[in-house]
Amino acid sequence: MAKIKEAQDRIFKNIFVCKKCQTKVRSDPQKILKGKVKCRKCKKNAFRPLKKK
Ligand SMILES: [Zn+2]
Repeated sequence: MAKIKEAQDRIFKNIFVCKKCQTKVRSDPQKILKGKVKCRKCKKNAFRPLKKK
């Protein structure tokens, strides 16, 4: 069970939301930080983490 939880955590942490159109994109955080990931809808590269706090 622990393994499944770890996997879910990892998947969750790797999800980002486009600031413009709210599209969810799953990607490596390093790629997000480097601006290598583009939104597939609006082509922007401005993302925020899925969980906003
Ligand atoms: Zn977008």
